[in-house]
Amino acid sequence: MPDTLLPRIAIVGAGPSGFYAAEALQKAMPGIRIDLFDRLPTPFGLVRGGVAPDHPKIKSVTKVFDRIAAQPGFRFLGHVELGSDITVEELRANYEALICTVGARTDRALGIPGEALPGSHAATEFVGWYNGHPDYVHQSFDLTRESVAVIGIGNVAMDVTRILAKSPAVLAETDLAAHALEGLRGSAIRDIHVIARRGVIQAACTTVELRELGELDGVDVIVAPEDIVLDEASAAMLATGDDRTAEKNYAVFQDWAARTPTGATKRIHFHFATSPVALTGSDRVEAIEVERNRLEDDGKGGVRAAPTGERRQIPAGLVFRSVGYRGVALAGLPFDDRRGIIPNVSGRVVTEPGSDATLRGVYVAGWIKRGPQGVIGTNKACAADTVAALLDDYAAKRLQRAEGAPEAVDQLLASRGVRVSDWQGWQRLDAEEVARGAAAGRPREKITSVDEMLHLVGV
Ligand code: NAP
Repeated sequence: MPDTLLPRIAIVGAGPSGFYAAEALQKAMPGIRIDLFDRLPTPFGLVRGGVAPDHPKIKSVTKVFDRIAAQPGFRFLGHVELGSDITVEELRANYEALICTVGARTDRALGIPGEALPGSHAATEFVGWYNGHPDYVHQSFDLTRESVAVIGIGNVAMDVTRILAKSPAVLAETDLAAHALEGLRGSAIRDIHVIARRGVIQAACTTVELRELGELDGVDVIVAPEDIVLDEASAAMLATGDDRTAEKNYAVFQDWAARTPTGATKRIHFHFATSPVALTGSDRVEAIEVERNRLEDDGKGGVRAAPTGERRQIPAGLVFRSVGYRGVALAGLPFDDRRGIIPNVSGRVVTEPGSDATLRGVYVAGWIKRGPQGVIGTNKACAADTVAALLDDYAAKRLQRAEGAPEAVDQLLASRGVRVSDWQGWQRLDAEEVARGAAAGRPREKITSVDEMLHLVGV
């Protein structure tokens, strides 16, 4: 049974951070009443809409989230958008505390000429498209081009490169969205250029994700031998022995640089110390103009890329900018535009960046708290820290009692005609997707239309 004496908490954003915040609250106060909101009728945020379909093990974290959702006092209110369906003020009035775990919804821009040309896309749009996220299903990507480029060398760049390079027959065994599978079946892509502005030691991806590229059937990975010769600053960085990932990635690049291409139909070319300076083309992108960088000590224990002025063109009929996600502002809450986060001190939201004046009862966790870095598990500790701050405030009586009755929010949403989908609704969708997948010999066939989801849920 939920404990009616305990505070009522609203969490907005049902991705990993939202669930981990709920879990930390449940551990501290079993039976605590938690309403977890999401703008989609489906939970799990980037685990559903971001994690690559051919990485099912990473997605199995949803079993942990299912257990959290089964705890007494927990409710899921799907298809409720903060700002349009309910405001921050209304949530603050109806709950003792509000935790925003909305993640980082958009992408960082490169800020170079030609970035908006047709054929230039944020990698995050492609990821949303192949994962069947309702916001991106209507996007189209011209996969008939032979030469494409991925800018950046983080894990999203690795995912996008792998999905472009992998055989559709292998992808058919995953829950990749049906429309994306169809699109990829018609792909003419032969050459994928991965463009990294710094060197092999500074690659932002993790080794498991990197190594996978070299294990794909029918794909040659091409690394120029001169790129594994380390500059002074990178050699010094590696010699500290502090960065195990850099060491392991370096070994992978060394292995690839020693390989002889097999004449495979697809090739992944790595370009290091190379920055994009413009996307060029008359009515759509046809090439990337890049500039060679010199890598040098940044004086802070790192390595920076300094432009040399030496430029060249890499042909690319399709470009994926994979230089990081970015948080967006939420109506009714302050925003740090420079960092793309909600300003906070240890998860307590503050009135403006740099201030230590907190907004009573408002917290953040996950990427909207600290920026888009780290793997799913990183959010567990992050959410636990935020919840520890919240519990301190509760113990010190710094939280205000919720004004409204427990049903006030449901009544408010009903009065506005919001079609709220609950956890049982999600379980129905989940079962339907698995059944449709089974009929097609696949693990799951994702439903990508919100209207269809609401129809199936019956709200
Ligand atoms: P990321 O790890 O921050 O990588 C961004 C990449 O873009 C870096 O290589 C960065 O280079 C480059 N970059 C940034 N600005 C640039 C510019 N102006 N010009 C050229 N290159 C630029 O971001 P992400 O790949 O979006 O990943 C976000 C987070 O999600 C990461 O923590 C990642 O590990 C995680 N993730 C994990 C998985 C997984 O575990 N399988 C999958 C996907 C994402 P510099 O290093 O030089 O800045």
